[in-house]
Amino acid sequence: MENCIFCRIASGEIPSQTVYEDDYFRAILDLSPASKGHTLILPKKHFKDVTELDETYAAKILPLAAKIGQAMKTKLGCAGFNIVQNNGEAAGQTVMHYHMHIIPRYADGPQMVIWEPKESNPDEQAQIASLLSEALK
Ligand code: AMP
Ligand code: ZN
Repeated sequence: MENCIFCRIASGEIPSQTVYEDDYFRAILDLSPASKGHTLILPKKHFKDVTELDETYAAKILPLAAKIGQAMKTKLGCAGFNIVQNNGEAAGQTVMHYHMHIIPRYADGPQMVIWEPKESNPDEQAQIASLLSEALK
């Protein structure tokens, strides 16, 4: 994927603020951070989104996210961190190379409103559960 910016960053062709690298991933600081230390984990192989991610990468990325989050708490002094991962334009994905955001959260912010909880309708919930569970059998 020669035109993919994250392929080029992950391979090292384009320089980045790298916080971690191994054979599978490069983790870099986000260019427009939501908070101090906002990090992106980029697979070195191109996957469009989580629906394409292969099992090896999938199994390795969560422990790495935890390790990075722990380092943020120890070294940056954040109180917690969010793991965010967008799939598809409608979900806010702007770079179509799978990546995971690790966003430090400090005692004084930033505030991040993710959704507004709405009331659920029991009939509709049952219908949705049935549709999805059927597809997941
Ligand atoms: P998403 O909206 O989940 O696709 O996230 C894309 C993220 O990539 C955004 O947070 C951008 O700020 C970040 N980003 C885009 N280009 C670069 C770049 N060249 N280096 C570092 N971060 C980038
Ligand atoms: Zn790519």
